[in-house]
Amino acid sequence: MASLDSSALCTSCGLCCDGTLFSRIELAPGEDGAGLETAGMRLVEANGVRKASQPCAALKGCNCTAYSIRPAVCRDYRCNLLRRLDAGETDVESALEIVASARRLRAEAMEQFARACPLPEGLSMKEYAHLAGADAMKTAQARRDNQAMLVACTLFQFHISRHFQKYSLEADPET
Ligand code: SF4
Ligand code: SF4
Repeated sequence: MASLDSSALCTSCGLCCDGTLFSRIELAPGEDGAGLETAGMRLVEANGVRKASQPCAALKGCNCTAYSIRPAVCRDYRCNLLRRLDAGETDVESALEIVASARRLRAEAMEQFARACPLPEGLSMKEYAHLAGADAMKTAQARRDNQAMLVACTLFQFHISRHFQKYSLEADPET
């Protein structure tokens, strides 16, 4: 069972559901997805694996509206920050500051992406980075012209890798 501190952190965070950390979740074989679709999640099947895109449609604010029926991958996931909190290596206040910094760095990266091209709503960070960076990083000249974007992406990626999980802004295969 999650501790009260863990719950306080996760219900003020949601970064593993809102497209910041992941582009999609995968259902386990045989997992029932009917309730998830009722909760608004659109499941697509590829190569026999059912997936739902992030930002997750079941996320409202920082709360999962499908909590009691959330997929196994969601039940099992615990980021490094949550593990450190549970291990007593940090406290809730410090952890929430790390979450706030992640949001600020994400916003700064998004601002740079938006300078590069018009951005549709509802994509994950990896998809935005892929979209904005497709041309901006191709040549040495393009990289010079887009240094602010590179810096913002690097700072965001470093923070996420350091505090949450190993991370790359490269788009995942099939996203
Ligand atoms: S990213 Fe970590 S702290 Fe944030 S909601 Fe997910 S598990 Fe909880
Ligand atoms: S089902 Fe709930 S826990 Fe899983 S990604 Fe969506 S909002 Fe997050």
